[in-house]
Amino acid sequence: MGVGVTDSLIDGVIRGIDMFDCVLPTRIARNGTVMTSHGRLVVKNAEYARDFGPLDDQCSCYTCRNYSRAYIRHLIKSGETFGLRLASYHNLYYLIHLMKRVQQAILDDNLLDLRAEVFEQYGYNKPNAKSF
Ligand SMILES: [Zn+2]
Repeated sequence: MGVGVTDSLIDGVIRGIDMFDCVLPTRIARNGTVMTSHGRLVVKNAEYARDFGPLDDQCSCYTCRNYSRAYIRHLIKSGETFGLRLASYHNLYYLIHLMKRVQQAILDDNLLDLRAEVFEQYGYNKPNAKSF
């Protein structure tokens, strides 16, 4: 279907769609970009060369528990495919976790609150918001 961006996923669920398929989480990971609870992060940027924190401090995936932004950046910049796999793993985990939160938000009747939170994290409410 090609729906993998966080705003489209949540708005799709609000409109009744309950199944998605997209290459986006692995495609953007191959470009050194990850989805985080603080929005989009381009880990291959120079600012992360000495950042020894996880990709996302709110994430408990294997990548975030075991590897730093600096190390993943180093792997990607060196052409090591392991860095791309780590970033892909994180992005897939992030989306699975997000959809579990969407399921719970439906049960708790606060899906619009979750939508507002995610839109704020990714700056979708701002003009010229950058997508992936
Ligand atoms: Zn993670």
